[in-house]
Amino acid sequence: MVNILSDQRISAITGALTLPLPLRKCETSEDQHDRCERERYGFGSENGALHGTKVSSPLTMAHLQDTFGRVKRDLRISLTDRCNLRCSYCMPPEGLPWIPQPEILTDDEIVRVSKIAVAHGITKLRLTGGEPLLRPNLIDIVGRMSKLNPRPDIALTTNGIGLAHLAAPLAAAGLTRVNVSLDTLQPARFKALTHRDRFDDVIAGLHAAKETALAPIKVNSVLMRGVNDDEAPALLRWALDNDIRLRFIEQMPLDAQHGWQRETMLTAVQIIESLAQDFVLTPLTKGERGSAPAEEFLVDGGPATVGIIGSVTRPFCADCDRIRLTADGQIRNCLFATEEDSVREILRSSGADIDERVAAVLFGSVLKKKKGHGIGEPDFVQPIRPMSAIGG
Ligand code: SAM
Ligand code: SF4
Repeated sequence: MVNILSDQRISAITGALTLPLPLRKCETSEDQHDRCERERYGFGSENGALHGTKVSSPLTMAHLQDTFGRVKRDLRISLTDRCNLRCSYCMPPEGLPWIPQPEILTDDEIVRVSKIAVAHGITKLRLTGGEPLLRPNLIDIVGRMSKLNPRPDIALTTNGIGLAHLAAPLAAAGLTRVNVSLDTLQPARFKALTHRDRFDDVIAGLHAAKETALAPIKVNSVLMRGVNDDEAPALLRWALDNDIRLRFIEQMPLDAQHGWQRETMLTAVQIIESLAQDFVLTPLTKGERGSAPAEEFLVDGGPATVGIIGSVTRPFCADCDRIRLTADGQIRNCLFATEEDSVREILRSSGADIDERVAAVLFGSVLKKKKGHGIGEPDFVQPIRPMSAIGG
């Protein structure tokens, strides 16, 4: 049994927090500033109503709701910061100083946080990393998550290496969906981009996943100028031929090397222009994609679609329903957060109120969530942790 946080405890947490007003002011009138922020992060006029006010409705506070009215439904869990690839937009060829093993949450601790989150309205768990297929006992973890009540949707983001033998047991254990990351269809280019000669393993993993209930498979691709930016149409043709749902993700400033530059990144508009040379793309309306980050386009009249995740130039912050748990037990309210709140010490302490204290950290973190990620703002600071340690 998980103790759901009582209204009194929630009030105590919200009362103790100074709700932030984190955004840079435009050097214009208040009205212009509000309009400017809404446009930047995609907020409609109905959002933001809660910002700066104390959230008091017991109904909404039973769920993890931030001060902009966004309810959290999606907990992304990093199972490890380690990886068997070295994608250049993510980490350096020599790898990174990995998190020491004693600091990594145990299986029991991960399942416990998931259970607490599900009790407070989280409906989707996404397992990621690092490379989540490297996590020992992954099948058991998925099996235990699938028995939570209410049963969450359990998704996995992977580079696909190892999926050839893990896809079937993961599906049998209760995994609902899988996203595989693949940025090129050229083995030599794959090797140059990831510093590992594992292209065939990824393709084998994709084939295996297609044979399971995990289908349809989504593939995520990051395009980089001068590296694989000529491959957008070929990737889409291949995805259509193989009944794969392709999504392009704009490269974000989350690499360990801090080498990202806005001037050289490929934007969503440029990706769309590149695809439009070979395909007719028809945008679906926002209402048809809900809180999904991808802008979806019908390809050549449909029914196939392609998604573009313009995290940098067309942010979906206004619809963000995500929070994150790192492999070492830190709660993050945004990929780009510079602050995290630990649940590890609580999980490793004693007392009858551990679940309640973990829930309090979740609520506290959510209440500090900013309106937008702030990339492009003069005061934007890239998070110290790279994507692989946060959980992508
Ligand atoms: N290792 C797994 C994988 O690659 O799918 C899961 C973790 S990885 C960090 C999750 C996703 O983040 C992948 O689709 C990857 O391409 C993407 N990613 C990593 N670094 C990125 C960056 N700097 N910008 C955009 N996407 C990035
Ligand atoms: Fe590993 Fe995924 Fe990062 Fe590539 S993007 S280095 S596969 S964690």
